[in-house]
Amino acid sequence: MTKIRTLKGANQSDIREHNQLTIIRLIRDYGPLSQTEIVKLTGLSKAAVSVLIREFLERGLVEPAGAGQSSVGPKPRLLRFRGDYRYVIGIDLSDPHYRAALVDLRGQILEPRISGTAPHDENGLLSTVCEIIDTLLDRAQQRGCTVGGIGIAISGLVDHQRGMIYRSTVLQISDMPLQAEIEKRYQLPVRVDGDVNVRLVAEQGCDEEDWTDRNVIYVYVGTGIGAGLYLKGGIYRGQSGLVGEIGHIPVVADGPTCVCGRRGCLEAVASWSRLPELARELGFNGGREVTAEHVVRAAYAGDPVAHAACAELAANLGEGLAILVNILNPDLIILGGNIADAPGVFYPLLRQNLSDRAIKPVGDQVELRFSRAGADAGLVGTAGLLLPVILMEQLTG
Ligand SMILES: [Zn+2]
Repeated sequence: MTKIRTLKGANQSDIREHNQLTIIRLIRDYGPLSQTEIVKLTGLSKAAVSVLIREFLERGLVEPAGAGQSSVGPKPRLLRFRGDYRYVIGIDLSDPHYRAALVDLRGQILEPRISGTAPHDENGLLSTVCEIIDTLLDRAQQRGCTVGGIGIAISGLVDHQRGMIYRSTVLQISDMPLQAEIEKRYQLPVRVDGDVNVRLVAEQGCDEEDWTDRNVIYVYVGTGIGAGLYLKGGIYRGQSGLVGEIGHIPVVADGPTCVCGRRGCLEAVASWSRLPELARELGFNGGREVTAEHVVRAAYAGDPVAHAACAELAANLGEGLAILVNILNPDLIILGGNIADAPGVFYPLLRQNLSDRAIKPVGDQVELRFSRAGADAGLVGTAGLLLPVILMEQLTG
């Protein structure tokens, strides 16, 4: 792991907050760690680390985890993060089917989870979200878990600072102040963010490598297509938080009509629901109810028509990825959503497309991989979203 960057030059309370969060994240993501290791990784003084660790121990945020190895001198005391210190009510509304669960601050899901069909209007959304919260608050009480916040991942354009849904085609909702509505009803911190950003947070949490100096693009390919950007140490939010609508970049002239009304958008030609249509157009004979999963299974089994459909989807997606790569020169692209279930078919196709369509050497240099956080990323990431909020509330309260 590379050395973690700590903040210098800001005001004292900002520096303290930043360092508290840095150390907690370090112990959470890479622990158990000794105090000496934390000093080495952060570059902070031994005294500063010692003060912060003592505070974390007193508050119950970290706990002793036995002794580490040492070739000389006494064995160092290890510390680990207490994920069950607080739980988050995580709700993932990134798909026509929602899922929700209690998630601890390490991102571990407390089973069982709740799932159902996402509503398609503002009142329906509010009552569904409140029902989920009530159910999970009851469950937390039964199990003796303390809930520290509510995190909601939404497919679409979201102003994360106000928790405002500007537009969600999946939920068919626009201009809804969801965070304010939930905060009115519950005495808990609430965070609402775009699902790709929540997934990006989950991917960062389960990567063994530190992202401080990485530039990462997360591309979700499911019913819709969206991107989250992690640039130079944090999520890139743009001017007003409305970033990553790559699904509506036109990539095929006179292509099929998109949900936005225009033609040939990336989402219309490369989303997961496009795959069975492409296969049928190419003459794939998979019975009446062809699904994307049928096509992928047939492609794995060597069916040339199914493989050609996957290749066309990958070519369309490759156009969109090449545009992102040419503009942003990232060093890593992570693909999530349904496409991450079929890396064997799509990795070689997309790797080739990126090299062919992006400018040299940018397209060849970028690392391409599939999601590690998996299908639960939209839930797991809510813990990372609420971690700084809960932590600051506890440490300053
Ligand atoms: Zn569109």
